[in-house]
Amino acid sequence: MEIVEKITNTDHEKVLFGRDSTSGYRGIIAIHSTALGPAVGGTRFWNYASDEEALTDALRLSRGMTYKTAVAGLPLGGGKAIIIGDNRKSNREAILRAHGRFVETLRGRYITAEDVGTSPADMEIVRLETRHVAGLLGLSGDPSPYTARGVFRAIQASAKYLWNTDDLSSVTVAVQGCGHVGYQLTKMLHAAGAKLIIADVNANSVARVANEFAVEVVQPNEIFSGAADIFAPCALGGVINDRTIPELKVQIVAGAANNQLLEERHGESLRERNILYAPDYVANVGGVFNGCIELLGWGSARAAKKIDDIYDTILTIYERARAEGITTSKAADQLAESRLRRGGA
Ligand code: NAD
Repeated sequence: MEIVEKITNTDHEKVLFGRDSTSGYRGIIAIHSTALGPAVGGTRFWNYASDEEALTDALRLSRGMTYKTAVAGLPLGGGKAIIIGDNRKSNREAILRAHGRFVETLRGRYITAEDVGTSPADMEIVRLETRHVAGLLGLSGDPSPYTARGVFRAIQASAKYLWNTDDLSSVTVAVQGCGHVGYQLTKMLHAAGAKLIIADVNANSVARVANEFAVEVVQPNEIFSGAADIFAPCALGGVINDRTIPELKVQIVAGAANNQLLEERHGESLRERNILYAPDYVANVGGVFNGCIELLGWGSARAAKKIDDIYDTILTIYERARAEGITTSKAADQLAESRLRRGGA
């Protein structure tokens, strides 16, 4: 009953639950909006504490995709898929194929790709059952280097806005999460001369970064209070909340994680503390731009230019927020909503 209420209380077009008893597959596909085009969004394979938690994530993430593609000016909508369960399962292939069949039932209204817990190689398996999948090996592939490049540009734009320079050689960045995006971002920040503080719950991810670049490693619970200028969340969502905001010493929050603000009001809490927030779905759209090589037939130069332009979009949002006296997250939402109202124009 609570699950039905949760769905009816949102503005989603469609929310589907799928099951395949042979493989044990259980999944959710949430389509938030196809107003601007087919819904795009990755498949997350995760062991949630409850189905309700999985649904909440699907609803939030698919809505975020609608806003992300709208601000990016793309003829695409927002969706998200969840495979519920432990992603280290031995019958992974059968589960991914069942998921592919589930995606296929939507006949292209939803196009999937990799996300947390899935990889480009997994998408090759999904592709056996449906052609409505992007991020394939040898095509647009792993989006994370492009996502990281976009986050890097968002960090540069934030530095420009606050300190009137996008030279990062004298700043310290605390990076939370050294996975696909965090690793690539760390590499770019290191090349730009930034000092780095990193944390990850996975010792192997920490070791990989620490062996390659000069970084200070801290415990996961210490990353929020690190003596840094910029905090880059690149792990999971909800990390900007009542507990963490008072701990932050930084002037900028700009990272890759989706849904960084636990609740909308936390955007206001950051503003009250004079912490500039790069709205997550604007900063982390780089991978989607790269996916447009497959989705929309773009050339790689066009995708690279759009990723670089994240810098300008972030500055436009900051200016709008300042002019209207609103949070940067609200300014981004307003931009997305006006594009949705105008059918993408
Ligand atoms: P990933 O799974 O490769 O990396 C996440 C890392 O965070 C892992 O190494 C994990 O151990 C670590 N982590 C988890 N909890 C942590 C904690 N409490 N403290 C510190 N580290 C923790 O995922 P990814 O592809 O790098 O994506 C990172 C984030 O960026 C996710 O929120 C994802 O939704 C978002 N994102 C990714 C892309 C992309 O192109 N991969 C695009 C847009 C948004």
